[in-house]
Amino acid sequence: MLIKEECGLAAASSQSEANVLPLVVNMLRALQHRGQEAWGLAVPGKEPWRMLGLVSEGLGKAAAICARSPSPYAIGHTRYSTVGRTVLENVQPMMVGREFAIAHNGTISNTEEIVNKLSSYYAIPAWASDTLIVGYMMHYLLSKFNGDWFKVFEELSPQLNGAYCFIILTKAGEVYVARDEAGFRPLCLGWHDDASSYVVASESCALSVVGAHLIRDVKPGEVLRIKDGVVESHIFAESGRVAHCAFEYTYFANPSSTLDGVSVYEARKRLGQELAKLYKIEADVVIPVPDSARPAALGFSQVSGIPLEEGLMKDRYSKKGGLRSFIEPALKDRLEINRWVLPVEQTVRGKKVVLIDDSIVRGTSSKTIIKALRKAGAKSIFLLSTYPPIRYPCYAGIDFPTKEELVAHKIEGGVVDLEEVNKRVAEEIGADFVGYNTLEGLSRGIGKQISELCTSCHTGDYSCLKKAPQYTQRMKKGRW
Ligand code: SF4
Repeated sequence: MLIKEECGLAAASSQSEANVLPLVVNMLRALQHRGQEAWGLAVPGKEPWRMLGLVSEGLGKAAAICARSPSPYAIGHTRYSTVGRTVLENVQPMMVGREFAIAHNGTISNTEEIVNKLSSYYAIPAWASDTLIVGYMMHYLLSKFNGDWFKVFEELSPQLNGAYCFIILTKAGEVYVARDEAGFRPLCLGWHDDASSYVVASESCALSVVGAHLIRDVKPGEVLRIKDGVVESHIFAESGRVAHCAFEYTYFANPSSTLDGVSVYEARKRLGQELAKLYKIEADVVIPVPDSARPAALGFSQVSGIPLEEGLMKDRYSKKGGLRSFIEPALKDRLEINRWVLPVEQTVRGKKVVLIDDSIVRGTSSKTIIKALRKAGAKSIFLLSTYPPIRYPCYAGIDFPTKEELVAHKIEGGVVDLEEVNKRVAEEIGADFVGYNTLEGLSRGIGKQISELCTSCHTGDYSCLKKAPQYTQRMKKGRW
């Protein structure tokens, strides 16, 4: 039983009687890039509202909920499933007993262990996701510790293997937010003046959208209790080694966000500058793969002196054209999105093109884009990736479910020499040249030490998790 959730979280708790539901809905809209399959809202004492599709597709319903059930406390979630099916039962927030609603960003990989521990107390449904299973464990611990959530997290943390940010809303209107001790996924706290409300979100872009200001990041290993304008902090686990997900900086997060003190936009620009120092290429034009590689392409152009142009356009008017292909669960949908990335012939015809992408994961979108650029007349294509080769699955919340579907793993055959990997991947995806970033270049670009980052999907070193993952189990559970 393993359902992975890389998602967006939002919460608000007002010290006045302001209705914060509209704030939470708008924060979820700003977090849509973290999950575009489903979303939900919860207020105290009511069954959560859970919907499939984009938040923007359900605004009528959201407006009705906001008007019908105003509340000074609310939480919300946008979902990106990676192994679980996109059905309403897996959409969050989820109710646990009648006590609290829970929403989660991350992956818990030892759910079977937890189910076994709880088997004498609960009949946990077979379809239960990692979020719901951990919710049952919280429920059990709450009764053991007489409702003391700080003790619940102290007891829970050593039992969880994986990555998590949780937001919890109790029936009494208390909001609890917690971040695992490695700090894999981002989570931040802000303040909204007009609503006299604390707000919490996966990323600071969601605070900006509603006019709130960022106070600080939730610390790794910290739980906050927010009620009636008071924030109480408790460190439930000491952080031996922080391991912020490097992929958040290169791809996942919104460029307007600041994560753990680093501007995502600036980090991406620096990553492009690192690539320009690493690969001296003679070319006519630099173009980004839209949208996440735009700042990196700018950084590459600044250092290399090669002019930056827009050479690929997303057709935002086609049904799936505006969505992110990587986080779409089905291959056919990912291909459909890539089909609507259109080359600008005037930019690329007869030119030597440097194509900057954030990463090369499965290689399918790179292949499609390179084909389209060749058709549009590009003379040669040098593809550079701000992320080093991805060779291993992620067990901390991003969708690289099996080694077998990662192009760098398939092609390498045990080779670790970067030049050889570059050559083999270039042949596989049809580029004239492929150049991956190095681990050191990634660290310099992000502006954090290698020892502060999780880079397991590149190195295969999973020491930032409590236990080594079970490859074989994951392979069996894969959706494809
Ligand atoms: S394995 Fe890769 S994608 Fe997963 S958390 Fe670590 S850096 Fe991020």
